[in-house]
Parts: sequence; C-alpha cells; structure tokens
Amino acid sequence: MARWFRFFLAISVVIILCGNLAYGGEVEDLVVMRDTLRPNSSEAAMGTYKTIPWVPAERAFVLKSLRRIHALAPGLLPRAASDGTLSVYRSNIRTYAKGGTKLIVIGKMVFAYPDFSFRVVFHEAVHAADNYHKLSNSNAFRKIFEPKIEAARALLAKEGLTPARAAALPLGERRKRIEKMVRTQTGLPSAYAAYSLSECLAEVTSFWLTPEFKYTPSAEVVRLLSPFVSQAAPPDPVDQLFRQAERRFRHGDFAAALKKASQVIKADPTFYQAYSLRGYAYLKLKKNKYALRDLKKAHELVPPLQGSYAFYDKEYKRVRALVQKGP
Ligand SMILES: [Zn+2]
Repeated sequence: MARWFRFFLAISVVIILCGNLAYGGEVEDLVVMRDTLRPNSSEAAMGTYKTIPWVPAERAFVLKSLRRIHALAPGLLPRAASDGTLSVYRSNIRTYAKGGTKLIVIGKMVFAYPDFSFRVVFHEAVHAADNYHKLSNSNAFRKIFEPKIEAARALLAKEGLTPARAAALPLGERRKRIEKMVRTQTGLPSAYAAYSLSECLAEVTSFWLTPEFKYTPSAEVVRLLSPFVSQAAPPDPVDQLFRQAERRFRHGDFAAALKKASQVIKADPTFYQAYSLRGYAYLKLKKNKYALRDLKKAHELVPPLQGSYAFYDKEYKRVRALVQKGP
C-alpha cells in the first residue's frame, strides 16, 4: 500500500474517532464495577459465573483501561451499555463459557483472567459491544475473515495445535514463532483470532487499536470496523425488545416471552437468539412441534465458525430427542 494512502487512512480514522467523542457520555456514566452479580439480570440467571470482590488496585486498573478504550474507540462502551449500564465483574475462574444453560446471551463483561492487561480488557469490551454477534456474524465480516480463520487453523493443525491450544502455549520461542507465522501468512493478529468469528472480532479490534501492538488491518477491514468502534449507536430497539423477552422468560411468563420474541423475529429475521428463546418458551408451553422448529432455525442461523455453533447444535439435538421420546 502506498505510504500516502496509509497516512490518509490513519488521518481519516483519527478524524472519525475524534468526531464522535461527544456521544455516549463519560465512562463513569456507562460502567458499574460490581462485586456481586446484579440481581434479576441475565448474568445472574445463567448461574455459571462466580464473581469475587474487586481488589482496589485491579479495579483502578480496569477503570483506567476502560477510560483509555473510550478515548480510542468511543463507539464500544455505549454499545455495550445499551440497556443502561455495563456491569463489570471480577472472576477467579479461567473458563466460564461452559454452555449447558438455557439463557444463552452473555450480556455483560466478566473477566476471567489470571491477570489483567489493557489489551485483554479491550478484547472483553469488544465482546460486550457485539453482544448479539450481529457484526461478527454479518456477511461482510464472514466474507473477509472466514478464509483467514480457515487458513490459520490449517497452519496450526500442521503444528498439532488448535487456536485454543496455541493461545495456551507458554510465552516462549515456539509461541513467538507460531504467532508470527499466523500473522504474516493470514493477516490475523493472533492464533487465538482463529478460534471463532466473535473471538476474531475481539482480537482484530483490540490489537488494531492498542498502539503498542503495531497491528494495522487491511483498508477493507478498517472500513468495515470503523463505524463499530467510532460511532456510539443509540440503543437498538430490537435488542431492547429481546431483553424484555428474556426478562419475561426468567420470570416464568412464557406466553409473554413468546410474544416478545416473535416481535423481535419479525423485526430482524436473523436474530437467532430470539428463535432460541421462543423455542424454549414453546417447550415450556408444551408446544413441542413449534419448539423444535424454532431451535432448528436458531441452529441454522449460527455460522459454523461461530463459537456458539456447537452449543446450538447440541441443544437442537437434545430437544429433538426429548420431543421424540414423548411425554
Ligand atoms: Zn474472547
């Protein structure tokens, strides 16, 4: 790429970023650092998270990181806080996305690292901003990144590794060589970016906008991701409707949950989480045929390279077996 064009690109990004700083409020208005799970929240309903109280130094570090993220990417936190505030917890478990729960949406950031770094906080903020995977599941994102993910996975397989195992390698010569190989041959910033579409989005964005990592994605990627990171979107009414559906489900009002989920599907026929939720609502109401149809649809709408694909596949098959067995 010509040097002038790189310069033009860098300047345009800075202009876009600065132009939107005014929207979305201060970090203090958007983020709540919590010691315990928020009562009646989707994260509390999942029951899979164990939180521990913040240590003052870590709490200060994460807040400072969020302030820096907000300055570098003012679109992210307002998106993540679109139902009011963004809850940030500390956890002492390393893996928490074990599945097996009925409410699927992880709406809040839960840190589960042995220690924090700015880039890791950034990575989680990206997940929170693409809460329903609308960007990482989009055709534009898939078109660019699916071939890269496949290529990286093939490279790692030759080393006897998967993206998760590569990311778990100790920081040594081998890890360095593998990370460099993935970056030079696929353009992805890390081996872990090949784990799934949503991890790819979190890795690409956090490496790109953390200046220390000196990672510049292609002009095409910058064009695709710039509105997401720089423009604070107003709360999405369809997302809000979906959260209402979830809330109704949690309170055991399955008929109301079903109605709300149907409204979500009508507004956005690709909102697979709404099909899934409606499927479980039908199941509760003993309308098994409809339940199965919705869970099948949810499963079909999740791209195979998305991390939750296996979960939706398993859930569809589990409910199908349940329904076939009869009452
Ligand atoms: Zn992640």
